[in-house]
Amino acid sequence: MVSDVPRLPALWDPAQRAFMDRHAATIHELASGFDAPLHLLFPERFARNVAAFQRTLAERRVTGRIYYAKKANKARCFARAAAETGIGIDVASAGEFGEALMAGVRGADIGVSGPEKASDLLRLAVHHDALVAVDSVDELDRLVAVGRQCGRVARVLLRMEPAAQRSSRFGLNPASFDSALALCASNRSTLSLEGLSFHLSGYGAQARCDQAGVAVRACMSARALDLAPGTIDIGGGFAMSYAAACDWAAFQTNHRPDDYHANKTFDGFYPYHSACTGAQMLDAILTGIPDGDSKPLADSLREHGLQLMLEPGRALLDQAGFTVFTVQGVKDRGDYGIATVNGTSFSVSEQWFASEFLPDPELLTAPNEPSEPPRMRAPYRACVGGASCLDSDMVTWRKVAFAQRPEAGDLLLYPNTAGYQMDSNESPFHELPLPPKLVVTLDGARPRWRVDRLSTLSGA
Ligand SMILES: *Cc1c(COP(=O)(O)O)cnc(C)c1O
Repeated sequence: MVSDVPRLPALWDPAQRAFMDRHAATIHELASGFDAPLHLLFPERFARNVAAFQRTLAERRVTGRIYYAKKANKARCFARAAAETGIGIDVASAGEFGEALMAGVRGADIGVSGPEKASDLLRLAVHHDALVAVDSVDELDRLVAVGRQCGRVARVLLRMEPAAQRSSRFGLNPASFDSALALCASNRSTLSLEGLSFHLSGYGAQARCDQAGVAVRACMSARALDLAPGTIDIGGGFAMSYAAACDWAAFQTNHRPDDYHANKTFDGFYPYHSACTGAQMLDAILTGIPDGDSKPLADSLREHGLQLMLEPGRALLDQAGFTVFTVQGVKDRGDYGIATVNGTSFSVSEQWFASEFLPDPELLTAPNEPSEPPRMRAPYRACVGGASCLDSDMVTWRKVAFAQRPEAGDLLLYPNTAGYQMDSNESPFHELPLPPKLVVTLDGARPRWRVDRLSTLSGA
């Protein structure tokens, strides 16, 4: 029954693959010691992802600043890695702002985005010299008031409504943009216009290149008003691959509703493979020619003395973490089973976008006691249910093809979950503990782990 079922083998970081092969006993010990699902984090990998983006900027001779979009993961270790690698952080709340400062990021390296930001957050930003991406004329008015109260100059980016995504609720439309420029021009003692920003949905390089072209031209109009914007912020949305091209293509052609528990269907999935990801996608944006221009974006930026700012979230977390659930038991349902784990689908956020996190989880079987009979190794399909009383709480609706039947005490390792999957929707529903985050270092003679922050444990 398992031979031609759709699979989506995950890409694993080789060092993490070796860690789970050689140190399965340690992972089992941690899972039972914490008695909860676990998120294992690898900040060294984050630093390597940062370096790849920086190399691209250097190769294309573009002055650039990377701001890690903090909402993609709440862990402290990544904010600290951002501070250590000297990049900035993009935040959207006072809580995230505080976390960034605590991690050692200077206020001047913090970018603040989000719509109609609370005045408290604006005040925090102005006091700490952070860069505020302003989303509306009303907000800009409030920022002028805050700047006056604080007796300080507010550093401003104007966020543009994407020319090709007019239904977005973010950004200033062309008319509001002109009013905002006029406000900047008439409030020079409280507002310093440092540049223009945008953040697009989707993962297209050319769309970002085109919008950057629009932003470069808008900078020129601002300069005509004797303002001095020097930055184009192209936001985030750098694609990431979770699976190989051929596997993702095969999966999409093969899977059918009856490959999912309850014949569940989904409107769409994250593109689990993209031909152009991360730093490579940045390169495509820089070497692309914006619509209506005649030269690559990188050339225009250099010519006009503009620096590029980018806000990757997910792409900096590529291969920077995975999630461990413990199987509590398995129910046979005829031609497949339901494995129930010790957590909920609130910890695999894709479910909350009415979608599913598709890369195959890895089964790490419990160590076999010498007194026990060896386990049968026959292929077995199972979906994965959460430990709650909700029918809809499925960690994986798909009937995953395992090499053998999972059993109580086995572990399911969900790959590459650091970007958005871990905590954006986590909930202590049913008083179940929130998964602790453990930072794992693999650069020494043996792996070492430490707790990222204890406050995520329920009741702590
Ligand atoms: C969420 C967000 C990002 C990060 O997006 P990714 O897809 O994780 O790269 C960057 N900028 C803004 C304004 C955002 O809202």
